[in-house]
Amino acid sequence: MKRILVTGGAGFVGSHLCRELLAQSHQVICLDNLHSGRLSNIAALRDHPQFSFIERDVIQALDDLEVDEIYNLACPASPPHYQKDPIHTWKTCVLGALNVLELATRCGAKVLQASTSEVYGDPHVHPQPESYWGHVNPIGLRSCYDEGKRAAETLFFDFHRQHRTAIKVVRIFNTYGPHMAPDDGRVVSNFIVQALKGQPMTIYGDGSQTRSFCYVDDLVAGIMKTMATDASFTGPVNLGNPGEFTMLELAQQVAALTGSTAGIDFRPLPSDDPKQRKPDIAQAAQTLGWQPTVPLATGLVKTIAYFQTQPH
Ligand code: UDP
Repeated sequence: MKRILVTGGAGFVGSHLCRELLAQSHQVICLDNLHSGRLSNIAALRDHPQFSFIERDVIQALDDLEVDEIYNLACPASPPHYQKDPIHTWKTCVLGALNVLELATRCGAKVLQASTSEVYGDPHVHPQPESYWGHVNPIGLRSCYDEGKRAAETLFFDFHRQHRTAIKVVRIFNTYGPHMAPDDGRVVSNFIVQALKGQPMTIYGDGSQTRSFCYVDDLVAGIMKTMATDASFTGPVNLGNPGEFTMLELAQQVAALTGSTAGIDFRPLPSDDPKQRKPDIAQAAQTLGWQPTVPLATGLVKTIAYFQTQPH
């Protein structure tokens, strides 16, 4: 049994990770400031004897904790949420990374960083392998997150080189599933919530941009496999589903699965919106023996069923 800290543990991905770690009989400390995380995501875990919750921002000191492993997931990941307070997003990415790295170094703990496909920016290489350095605007609306996550990766590797801290870095591509907030703002939850309300789905731009969508259970399995690798493996490793869809194709699938006939409402494309994104997961397959198993249509059915139980 390990004592495991999950920062951002009440968030969309973090809450699924906490559940799986408890299922493996670990002791889980869930830390979250509840800015985008929600207590409802961890309601089913609160009474578990091995689970504890700390309401705290990851940019605050973590000096009082003693842990064996850390999963650093704390940060809003949806563009409208991370752009709402960009200075705080940057602090969460960079000062949050510094705090978990100092904690890991003091405790001799392994620490895993939830990095992102956003480190590739609007990529000129397609699909994106880990060796690609990316094409990122350093001063745009997305930069607080993209550059914040890039700086966090730098800090992880500097701690590893300077202090021999045991690090793992995963680059997470678009993920969806239950526990996304109805007002999350990302495309899958927006389309589903709009379709269930009988409203037109909002497509930004002409809908020809692509994304590759990974179901949350697949992602969590990949994250845990990464943590379980031996000390020689640091990553960064891409975790995502290589199935690539345009936003128009996604809207058509959501319409078919929900029976929505409300159509599409085309809106302006936000600035710096990447035109295409698809992970090269060769390294994850080879090193972790991991690949996603849930096709988009199956994952959408489960996600729609979740949103049908949520008040809109
Ligand atoms: N998008 C859209 N309608 C929405 C929300 C998003 O067409 O209601 C588009 C967005 O412009 C982007 C893609 O869907 O091209 C994925 O957006 P999301 O915010 O889910 O994640 P991103 O990959 O951009 O971080």
